Amino acid sequence: MKVLVINCGSSSLKYQLIDMETENSLAQGLVERIGIEGSVLTQKVEGKDKYIVKTPMNNHKEAIEIVLKALVDGEHGVIKSMDEITAVGHRVVHGGEKYASSVLITEEVKKSIEECYKLAPLHNPPNMIGIEACEELMPNTPMVAVFDTAFHQTMPKEAFLYALPYELYSENGIRKYGFHGTSHMYVSNKVAEVMGKDIKDLKIVTCHLGNGASLCAVKNGVSIDTTMGFTPLDGIVMGTRSGSIDPAIVLYLINELKYSTEDVNTLLNKKSGVLGISGVSSDFRDIEDAAAKGDERAILALDIYHYRIRTQIGAYAAAMGGVDAIVFTAGVGENGPETREACLEGLEFLGVKVDKEKNNVRGKVREISTEDSTVKAFVIPTNEELVIARDTKNLVK
Ligand code: ADP
Repeated sequence: MKVLVINCGSSSLKYQLIDMETENSLAQGLVERIGIEGSVLTQKVEGKDKYIVKTPMNNHKEAIEIVLKALVDGEHGVIKSMDEITAVGHRVVHGGEKYASSVLITEEVKKSIEECYKLAPLHNPPNMIGIEACEELMPNTPMVAVFDTAFHQTMPKEAFLYALPYELYSENGIRKYGFHGTSHMYVSNKVAEVMGKDIKDLKIVTCHLGNGASLCAVKNGVSIDTTMGFTPLDGIVMGTRSGSIDPAIVLYLINELKYSTEDVNTLLNKKSGVLGISGVSSDFRDIEDAAAKGDERAILALDIYHYRIRTQIGAYAAAMGGVDAIVFTAGVGENGPETREACLEGLEFLGVKVDKEKNNVRGKVREISTEDSTVKAFVIPTNEELVIARDTKNLVK
């Protein structure tokens, strides 16, 4: 059985074709600049040259047509015909309170995804466009929706409610939803497997540190709290997003500094985070280079980033009544030994000790704590596509 995984953004689309017998990824690709001049598809297949297709793609349907062509291409493809694709799994960012797990896509499910447009205006509409384009091109292929928010639906009210008038929750759905759920679920299960323990007996803090970043407290296998909130802007410091700030700063920006709401939106989402503090870049490699050369604001950006993660790990240890394992994943988490060490520095009182030598690793499953560390720390590369493919397989079986 082969499953096509689609992650559709507003002008880009990521895809993977996964063989479910072996769970190997047969092909991975990215389409950029959909609907913009210069549309391009890049496909990678192990043992073959990178396949680049530059052709106008005016919309997502045209993009998916090119994706399917690339997959069946005689020279660069990996399958003989589209019929080999048994099912399609779609990443959908927001499932609201309705979906605590993945679902087979029906007209009713599509309606619910639409109902969440107001909660995720930048993500759910392009996710839906991807679903509808696939439906048109593969009308007989079952499709599954896998939600970023689903894993966090187990959070108790004390964790997901804001201290606002209750009606804003009950009537308007204003609450913490959390994101990156697929990743937090994958790495927490994987770390239990690596530790040879039942996840139901573990207290785990997972740190998904990419461009967007969030932490999750996974107790006995379920999410009991996470740092992203009503939107992915909340929580720890990110590449360009501020994370949590005093909400009154927004009012001050508008009333005193005469920002428009659009200016505030851009400031908090695109110009803040480690980019805003350092003034250097949102990419940690650039910031670490600048910090190594003594750039004070780059050093400060990293210090703030580490401090916020460290204190959040402490908070989640308190939330769970202890912690057995701390996991680092995503771009920075998998590839930044310095980041991992700095985030855990000062947490020795919890029982975590980093082994510097073991920590010198990138992109591989590895325990990075010392033998005598009572709290274990790990690098676990995330694999959201595999979770989407597994859920898809299970639902269409
Ligand atoms: P996204 O949220 O876009 O999926 P990723 O998980 O790919 O993000 O993470 C991207 C981030 O990973 C970049 O900001 C980059 O700084 C960081 N990163 C990638 N490789 C390295 C590395 N070798 N060292 C430090 N940071 C890295």
